[in-house]
Amino acid sequence: ENREEANNKNVHLHGFAGSLSDSEEGGREENIAINRPGAVEQVNIPVGSRYWYPTIRFTVLFALCIFVDAAVAIILWLTASLNRTVLTLLGIYMVGALTSLLRSYLFTLAGQRLVARLRTKLFTSVVEQEIAFFDVNRTGELCNRLSSDTSVLQNATTVNVSMLFRYVLQIVGSLILMFYLNASLTGVLLAIVPVVTLGASQYGKFVRKMRKLFQDRLADAGTQAEESLSSIRTVKSFTGEERAIKVYDSYIQESFKIGKKLALAQGSMDGLFSFFAYGAIAAVLWYGGKLVYDNSQNPDTGITAGLLTSFLLYTLQVAMGFALLSSLYGDFMQAVGASVRIFTLLDRKPDVFVPANPLTLPALSGELEFKDVRFTYPSRPDSEVLKGVSFRVEKGQMVALVGPSGGGKSTIVSLIERFYDPNEGSIMMDGCDLKFLDLGWFRHKVATVSQEPTLFACSIRDNIAYGREATDEEVEDAARQANAHDFICGFEDGYKTLVGERGVRLSGGQKQRVAIARALIMDPTLLLLDEATSALDAESEHLVQEAIDRAMRGRTVIVIAHRLSTVRNAHKVVVIDKGQIAEMGTHSELLARHGVYKRLVLRQLTAGHPTPSSG
Ligand code: ADP
Repeated sequence: ENREEANNKNVHLHGFAGSLSDSEEGGREENIAINRPGAVEQVNIPVGSRYWYPTIRFTVLFALCIFVDAAVAIILWLTASLNRTVLTLLGIYMVGALTSLLRSYLFTLAGQRLVARLRTKLFTSVVEQEIAFFDVNRTGELCNRLSSDTSVLQNATTVNVSMLFRYVLQIVGSLILMFYLNASLTGVLLAIVPVVTLGASQYGKFVRKMRKLFQDRLADAGTQAEESLSSIRTVKSFTGEERAIKVYDSYIQESFKIGKKLALAQGSMDGLFSFFAYGAIAAVLWYGGKLVYDNSQNPDTGITAGLLTSFLLYTLQVAMGFALLSSLYGDFMQAVGASVRIFTLLDRKPDVFVPANPLTLPALSGELEFKDVRFTYPSRPDSEVLKGVSFRVEKGQMVALVGPSGGGKSTIVSLIERFYDPNEGSIMMDGCDLKFLDLGWFRHKVATVSQEPTLFACSIRDNIAYGREATDEEVEDAARQANAHDFICGFEDGYKTLVGERGVRLSGGQKQRVAIARALIMDPTLLLLDEATSALDAESEHLVQEAIDRAMRGRTVIVIAHRLSTVRNAHKVVVIDKGQIAEMGTHSELLARHGVYKRLVLRQLTAGHPTPSSG
């Protein structure tokens, strides 16, 4: 605030040209100050002393200003004319400073609060979208919405709105006083308004379009950076750094190209505004000079030189207000673009079927049936992935899905998890259509262990207890069942050991066992497994297999199988090929048929080590 007030003083001291650049600089510095992470943090905290601290500080300042004001008023009564005038001025500046403080503080606070809420709401809205949404929207782009777009909006709603009010008030206030001084002279000044409005609207359209492109290219760059950094090992092992940098740079250069156009547009706009502002002063001087001349000839007509001087001072205020508004305009247009994107995302309803009365069954036995299920991915509407799939899994049975890669096995598992709904046919759970079950309740009954499980960057304990609140004993018990307890205890921090970027890197087999523990702690009725195709070392493989066998006991299990031992033990083997069931039966039944399955077994499932082409 002090900085801004200092700028205001410059305005008075150095006149119009000096004030323009000074105030702009002030605005910029203010932006930086507000974007500091610390500043954001401070207002984001909803309760506690840190939240109240600014309010207390502000109240003290407020009281101090009132006190000084009162003191000034008393002195005014006691002093003579010139001193009184100067003191009056000081008093007015004091009030000005106080209102400036209030304006800036309250607007900034309101803006910060708004953006803090918006960010959480936006993230909530994104997380709640259906899986198909994530098939078409890239992670990097969504993260960009959350960070970059909301930052743009934050600037617009804090500094810019506050400044907008200030300049508009400055213009309107000066104009009222000018009308009061001389209406016809004000009319001359207002002649520039249509020209300026037309220029501003054209400029606005252009800037909106360009800013959108600019943000889009930035989003592309963000996505690219995210992809490269998240797979930095692959990038480095294929010496792809140069290529990654090149692609990133190409997006940045594209955004820079747009940035250059924007800079030119902003410059032209500033120039135009400034020309018309000075032009208006010239017009006032010209017409006002005439009126002063008239007055010198006949005191009953025209205006005095004193009045023209006051009028010119107000003209400066108006011109300055307009010039500064023009520099805010671009930022507002950018904010409009950003908010369109934010609100489109915020208002998007997840495209999932929600029944009027979601069912929860008293006890889920785990009987599953696919009835003539047809399915096409929404992101690839022209290729049907499942073309009428029907099979049944009895309670407690283990069913193995096998078949060539791309046949549709993972899709079947995704449908059971209800990541998608079938286009035709139905999936029945205990005789009830999956669609009509309460989704949250149902997902608690299902657990998945995928080929390459994702662990979160938190402690091993928190990873195991990810699906539900659990006691330390429960976590340990799950880990024991998953053959993970021993290796976890081998770490210095035991269950508190951090996983991921800043923690330990677990081996493939260890990760799998943590993932099995994470599934087991849910005590799922239905277990969905995707066997790892990559060969683990013999020791690990044995431990993982043992953990899986234990996990399967007493549960309905659907497994995308890659091992001969798994298919041998399965109650039923379903061979999926090109979205259809090619064969179905037990391992020995299918072998006896000498069909697709036998060929698969001979080619791929031999010795439990699949070839790279399998699933
Ligand atoms: P499998 O598990 O048997 O290898 P998938 O179920 O993964 O087969 O894939 C079946 C078909 O669906 C493939 O043609 C694959 O390209 C396509 N597919 C898989 N996932 C998606 C997705 N998220 N969006 C669009 N198409 C997909």
